[in-house]
Amino acid sequence: MARILDGNAIAAQIRAEIKSEVARLPITPGLATVLIGDNPASATYVRNKRKACAEVGIASFGYELPADVTESEVLTLLEELAQRDDVHGILVQLPLPSHLDQSRILQAIPPHKDVDGFHPANLGVLGLKGKQPLFAPCTPQGCIELLQRSGVTIAGKHAVVLGRSAIVGLPTALMLLARDATVTICHSKTANLSAVVRQGEIVIAAIGKPCFVTADMIQPGAVVVDVGINRVDAPDQPRGYRLVGDVDFAGVSAVASAITPVPGGVGPMTIAMLLSNTLLAAQRTLAKQKLLEQDSNL
Ligand code: NDP
Repeated sequence: MARILDGNAIAAQIRAEIKSEVARLPITPGLATVLIGDNPASATYVRNKRKACAEVGIASFGYELPADVTESEVLTLLEELAQRDDVHGILVQLPLPSHLDQSRILQAIPPHKDVDGFHPANLGVLGLKGKQPLFAPCTPQGCIELLQRSGVTIAGKHAVVLGRSAIVGLPTALMLLARDATVTICHSKTANLSAVVRQGEIVIAAIGKPCFVTADMIQPGAVVVDVGINRVDAPDQPRGYRLVGDVDFAGVSAVASAITPVPGGVGPMTIAMLLSNTLLAAQRTLAKQKLLEQDSNL
């Protein structure tokens, strides 16, 4: 049976590290969250992110805008947040209502406050060999951190990433490549998908299809990271649904050497990386202030 890569435990350890760093800072790191519309999953994600901030001593400022908000109203709010000294990081929860232009909105977050790492200036740098973005996107960074802290070697391995979205699949593939994996990216038009995935010594599933990756698609001993979060009907559950990943956990556990569960795998790691990026943003602000003070003393 596969070893369980326990995202809850690793994320708890990271949060403890962040909490002690935050306590040492002379300022309180601040995260502004912008939630638009009434998508219940998005509301839950934002609530969990703000709760996690509070637990480590990061201030969070929540903004909830109606589904019919205009793009210029969103852009005005982002401009205000960009100017505020107590806001070190800005997060706009995705997906956005369809009348809003996602790329225009994400580009309105200044790259130095882009703690989700979705600004093209941050995402683009991931593709440049030897360069680091100001912030790496949280879910891909969470996958990498989970692998590294679990002692999984990335360099030299064949990693297969299922999914090529700009916020999960593609940046995850680029980050694995930067750590010297040999990377294959699969998507909905990939031919002979099962055979391609079977080549993966590390398999990252990020497609949004419940239990899509089955045991026959996994080579014995592979490490499997399940990014998917899918709600499936479960009338016996209090909420009427349960969360499952993109991987058939029971079947794949029998062939993989290690696997992340859903929930309790990549999800908590994503939030931990958001906290880490917000701390980093605050630390950079402090470092800049110190430089300015030194300059003014000259
Ligand atoms: P998108 O819908 O943006 O992208 C899905 C990707 O999967 C696309 O590249 C698509 O290919 C590919 N795909 C879809 N169907 C198939 C198929 N049958 N075979 C192969 N590839 C396929 O999703 P996201 O990247 O935003 O999210 C993916 C999953 O990760 C979702 O379940 C989401 O909920 C979850 N997620 C989890 C997070 C966490 O913290 N754990 C954070 C963010 C997302 P194509 O490009 O050809 O259309």
